[in-house]
Amino acid sequence: MFGLKEYRVAQSLDQADQLLHEHKNNVILGGLLWMRMGRKNYHTGIDLSQLGLDRILETEEAIEIGCMTRLRQIETSGILDACFGRVLADAVSHIVGVQFRNAATMGGSVFSRFSFSDVVTALLALETHVHLYRGGILPLETFLESSPQRDILVKLSLKKKAWKTSYQSHRMTATDFPVLAAAISCCEDRWRISLGARPSRAKLATKAAALLPKKPDAAQIAAACDQVVEEMSFGGNQRGTREYREILAKVLVKRGVEAVCR
Ligand SMILES: Cc1cc2nc3c(=O)[nH]c(=O)nc-3n(C[C@H](O)[C@H](O)[C@H](O)COP(=O)(O)OP(=O)(O)OC[C@H]3O[C@@H](n4cnc5c(N)ncnc54)[C@H](O)[C@@H]3O)c2cc1C
Repeated sequence: MFGLKEYRVAQSLDQADQLLHEHKNNVILGGLLWMRMGRKNYHTGIDLSQLGLDRILETEEAIEIGCMTRLRQIETSGILDACFGRVLADAVSHIVGVQFRNAATMGGSVFSRFSFSDVVTALLALETHVHLYRGGILPLETFLESSPQRDILVKLSLKKKAWKTSYQSHRMTATDFPVLAAAISCCEDRWRISLGARPSRAKLATKAAALLPKKPDAAQIAAACDQVVEEMSFGGNQRGTREYREILAKVLVKRGVEAVCR
């Protein structure tokens, strides 16, 4: 279990930022589910739970998800369902169990840049921007490629568009980490194909997506699946070999594109 010398409930984002930079060993607290797996001793833990950042809000152009929003809220949100279909709900539904998802936060899930992340894989398919207190607003792709900085992830914003979406993953058991995850979306004739747990961090297969017309036939889908394996790197770990993931990638992308076309 990790240790904290002090615990502070931030009264404003300004104060949270100030506390974070007061000591190099101060830390922002999310749902603590990942942190409690470690044994690190921190100086001050900064709790953001009183800042109203646990909400999903709809604006004219975007859906905003506060960093303290729990995965279970993502799973059950009518707003997200109406705008993006089941992609986000399906992405989180395999993560451990309902009690766990009632505590794990979107801030902790995205800021950690986990390579196995279902959450990040799904968000990448939806033109997501990350709002950092110091670092400003970045496309999720840029945030994932940047090196970790001490900052606060305040919220995420997802462009409201006429997305059709699908989430696919393969796991050895229902609630294990994914062996491979894929999120597919299409708006008008523009596709996005996101692959995560390769086992490296989620990434977009842009060339494969560009091969797909609005209503692809079987040959066009097969060509896009081949291109996914061509343009992306896959690796091996205890859950599967590189070769196995390459086969899975074609299967999951085909299923995802077909589901979107239905
Ligand atoms: C056993 C287990 C199984 C899991 N399985 C899966 C899975 O299958 N798929 C999947 O996608 N995920 C999985 N996860 C990850 C999980 O969904 C969460 O992403 C993870 O627990 C982090 O969320 P948290 O709220 O608990 O963050 P915490 O543990 O509280 O924090 C994690 C890190 O993020 C930082 N942080 C938290 N919030 C912020 C913020 N707003 N700004 C800046 N930094 C912040 C913390 O300082 C810390 O460094 C699993 C986790 C565990 C422990």
